Amino acid sequence: MTRILVAGETLVDFIPDAPGPLASVEAFSKRAGGAPANVAVGLARLDADLDFWTRVGDDAFGDFLVETLEREGLGGDRVEQDPDAQTTLAFVSLGADADREFSFYHDHTADTRMEPGTIDDAALADYGWLHLDVLSMDTEPSRSAVLDLAERAGDETVVSFDPNSRPERWGEFSYVESAKRGFELADVVKATPEDLREAGFEGDAPELARELCSFGPHTALVTLGDEGSYAYATADAPWADEETEVRHPGYPVDPVDTTGAGDAFTSGAIAALSSGESLDEALAFGNAVAATTTTEPGAMTALPTRGEVAAFRDE
Ligand code: ATP
Repeated sequence: MTRILVAGETLVDFIPDAPGPLASVEAFSKRAGGAPANVAVGLARLDADLDFWTRVGDDAFGDFLVETLEREGLGGDRVEQDPDAQTTLAFVSLGADADREFSFYHDHTADTRMEPGTIDDAALADYGWLHLDVLSMDTEPSRSAVLDLAERAGDETVVSFDPNSRPERWGEFSYVESAKRGFELADVVKATPEDLREAGFEGDAPELARELCSFGPHTALVTLGDEGSYAYATADAPWADEETEVRHPGYPVDPVDTTGAGDAFTSGAIAALSSGESLDEALAFGNAVAATTTTEPGAMTALPTRGEVAAFRDE
C-alpha cells in the first residue's frame, strides 16, 4: 500500500449555531478543522496508510486537536505541539445563500511555525504520495516547510496540491504567485473553477484544467459542486496511456452542509489513485465520499468510512 504524507494546518473552526452575518452570530460550536487536517482524517477513515505532519499550540485548543487526531489514528511525532505559540482559530458564518464568511486568528500561530527540514530525506523517501495545501504558504516558515517537502520529493513520490483560495488569508505573500509555485511542483492538482480563476486562469473546466497542466502537473481534478467533477490527465500520468478527459456527474443528495466537501473529495480521489484505481473510479469515489459528507453537518465529523461509502454507492 502506498504510504501517504499529508502536511499542513490543523485549526479550530468555530461554527455558528444559527445562520446570519458573522458580526451578528451569538454562539459558536467548536470543531476540529483545516483543509489538510480534513484530508488526513478523510484518508484515515478510508483505511489509507498515512502520516499527518501538523503543528498546534500547547494550549487547550491544541490539546483538543491532538486528541481528535489521535482518535483517528493520526497521533505520533508528526503531530507537534508548540510550547511558544497558540493554535489557529477560525470563526465562520453561514449566510442564507450558503455563502460563508471567515475570520482567522492566525498570526504567528503554531501551524505557521512548521520548520523546513523537519522531515529528512530518508523519511520523505518512504512516502509514495505527498499532499500539500496552498494555505500553508501564506506566511513563513510554514511556506518554506511545504515548498521544501515538494522540492525534495523524489520522482517516485506523487505530489498533490490544493490551491484552496481564501482571500482573507493573503497579504504577506500573493495567492496567485503561491498557487502557481505549487502548480510547478505538483503532479496532481485538485481545484475548484473559482480557485483557478482566482489564480488568473480563464474558461470552463476543460480549459482551466489544460492551462493548469501547462505549469507542470500531469493531472487536474476540478470539482464542480452538485455537478460532480472533471479530470484531465496528460500522457505522463501513471493512470493515463494518453491524454485523457473524464467527467463524473456526482451523486444526487439533499445536502445539509457542504463545508469540507472539497477536502472529502480530495481524500477519496487520493485514496483511489494511490491504490492503483483508474481516473474514472477516482472521480466516482471522490464524488461519493464528498456527497456522503454533505448529508451530515460538519466537515471532519461527517467524513465517511470505506463501508459507509460502499453502502452509499449501493443505494
Ligand atoms: P468546500 O470549499 O465546501 O470544501 P469546494 O468548493 O472545495 O467545497 P465543491 O466543488 O463545492 O468543492 O464540492 C466538492 C465535491 O463535493 C463535488 O465535486 C461533489 O462531489 C460534492 N458536492 C458538493 N456539493 C454537492 C451537492 N450539492 N450535491 C452532491 N454533491 C456535492
